Amino acid sequence: MDEQQRKKVAAMLEFYEDLGIEEFYIGRTEAAKSTRVPERTSQGDPVTQTLSPQKESEASPQPSKVEFGKPPAPHYSPAVAPKTTAAPGPVVQSMSLFESPAPAPRENQTLEQIREDLGDCHRCRLATGRHTIVFGQGNPHAELVFVGEGPGADEDAQGLPFVGRAGRLLNKMIELAGMKREEVYICNIVKCRPPNNRTPLPDEIETCSPFLLRQIRTIKPRLVCCLGAPAVKTLLGVKEGITKIRGRFYDFQGTKALPTFHPAYILRNPREEKILREDFQKIVEFLNSPR
Ligand code: URA
Repeated sequence: MDEQQRKKVAAMLEFYEDLGIEEFYIGRTEAAKSTRVPERTSQGDPVTQTLSPQKESEASPQPSKVEFGKPPAPHYSPAVAPKTTAAPGPVVQSMSLFESPAPAPRENQTLEQIREDLGDCHRCRLATGRHTIVFGQGNPHAELVFVGEGPGADEDAQGLPFVGRAGRLLNKMIELAGMKREEVYICNIVKCRPPNNRTPLPDEIETCSPFLLRQIRTIKPRLVCCLGAPAVKTLLGVKEGITKIRGRFYDFQGTKALPTFHPAYILRNPREEKILREDFQKIVEFLNSPR
């Protein structure tokens, strides 16, 4: 490996470390596969060396693979047909960000550590247009986490999620459900405002969502409420329309998730507010049910 390659690898490893991914497997290139490399001889192909040596018995079932010269595999996965399980109410299995090749999370991390790792993030193009990173807000031990799409103008100005019109509607729903905003945790799939409030692009979500994943794993909520289709697609990998899948419980990594309409959609379609209320009723019933 020459100096330039070495620097590239170092930069990539630092990037993944910031995301909390500390173990790597390197896939063999097609060319390397066609030549059988003897075990760790001086001729060993550096491209196929394991950076973090790990005994096979210790290896996680689906190790993250990084192939040099190729962009990292997306953290979110294409949807698979949901299949119903026998859990209380209709619970649906999904192929999600959480089931994709898993980044090894650091043990006992705090939200503060994750925020620190995020730093003054410039990992994607959204950094150039933002004023403030909107990390997330609320109870670090919340039973309920709301995940929206991305900060808008008000959120970008204040550095807090859901503080504009959509946020006021979310607050109203939380209060109608008998909870307080401070009791729950609120965040988004991307932490910087997309230009003109457009939907975040796949590579922006791919870069940012590992931090969201770490936040959720750290909070360990009982329920994640996905607000709108982009949050559903990112977390659950479900590509059916939100109208079809809302109000159903999904399952990932021992946590339940419930997709519902984004409050901004309800502001544009106020007649649908009763459906949002119905979904919030399901949230209340779930949180009141025994663990
Ligand atoms: N819409 C979102 O999806 N998130 C926010 O934080 C605000 C509006």
